[in-house]
Amino acid sequence: MPPSPEPSTRTVDRSLFSIIVPIYNEEETLEELSRRITLLFDKLDFDACEAVIVNDGSQDESEEMIRAIIGRDPRFRGVFLSRNFGHQAAVSVGLHYARGSVIAVIDGDLQDPPETVLSLIAVLDRGADVAYGVRRRRKESWVKRSTYWLFYRLLASVSPVQIPLDAGDFCCMTRQVVDALNSLPENRRFVRGLRSWVGFRQVRVEFERDARFAGTTKYSWSKLIRLAYDGIFSLSGLPIKIMQITGFASAALSLILGLGYFIASFLAESPPGFPTLVISVWLLGGLQVFFLGILGEYIHRAYEQSLGRPVAIVREVLEAAEP
Ligand code: UDP
Ligand code: MG
Repeated sequence: MPPSPEPSTRTVDRSLFSIIVPIYNEEETLEELSRRITLLFDKLDFDACEAVIVNDGSQDESEEMIRAIIGRDPRFRGVFLSRNFGHQAAVSVGLHYARGSVIAVIDGDLQDPPETVLSLIAVLDRGADVAYGVRRRRKESWVKRSTYWLFYRLLASVSPVQIPLDAGDFCCMTRQVVDALNSLPENRRFVRGLRSWVGFRQVRVEFERDARFAGTTKYSWSKLIRLAYDGIFSLSGLPIKIMQITGFASAALSLILGLGYFIASFLAESPPGFPTLVISVWLLGGLQVFFLGILGEYIHRAYEQSLGRPVAIVREVLEAAEP
């Protein structure tokens, strides 16, 4: 066989392609979804393909429809959760059931066009371990768009690991990355954040995010707020640092105030007791907040330990062969 023109080019293992789809009350989209996934399977040059449909406790006809789809096409597999656990939980369960050498995650409402997976895989072929979709434009209400815009910037600014802006869960990953994700035992999972946390070579791919194919959003505002909380608190201890700094600054201010009052006492009369009162309020208030922040630091460290994440994730070990 002639040598490949680019020696660095690595093509991903094409033994099995898995696509994970979380489903919550998507009876209006499931038919079209299965049709588009089947079309994608036809275009992929993998030895085999599977779709892992995770039914997140749907109350509509979704379950029956998934059963029918699997009956027609054995490449589809169903994982039925016992109740509604939420999108992130459903994706996480899907990651455990997917058996592929390459694994894609996609929404069930066809907002992430399945055909885009082809471009994501092309990026993996060029050596990436994760290719994630970044939406060029969201076809959603401006309230939701601006909330998301704000959230991703806030999250990126508080997170110690680099979080890509405007990236959702839509991605393609190699087996190694999924194994790393699955090795994290925490149960409040913010998948796109964990995906950044595990590292590896991550490449962004811009795509046009479509409008929902049918039905309405399954993300209520309360679910969105919970997602934002999970994102921030699973990645960042910055709120506690802010507490420590605020408390410290307030206590330090009391010293400056004290000095100011001391100098002012030579220049003018101030009502007796007033400086003491002001200084005590700032000093005691500041110390209280500061020591709460110290307490918070211990709690945060205990919390991080309780997440049970590994110290680091090894991508590769290189050793010279035994002499
Ligand atoms: N979803 C889920 N469980 C939930 C909420 C949503 O599995 O509790 C699924 C939903 O069926 C869809 C995906 O997660 O496939 C994204 O949800 P949606 O499109 O409603 O969110 P949006 O795009 O409006 O943010
Ligand atoms: Mg959607």
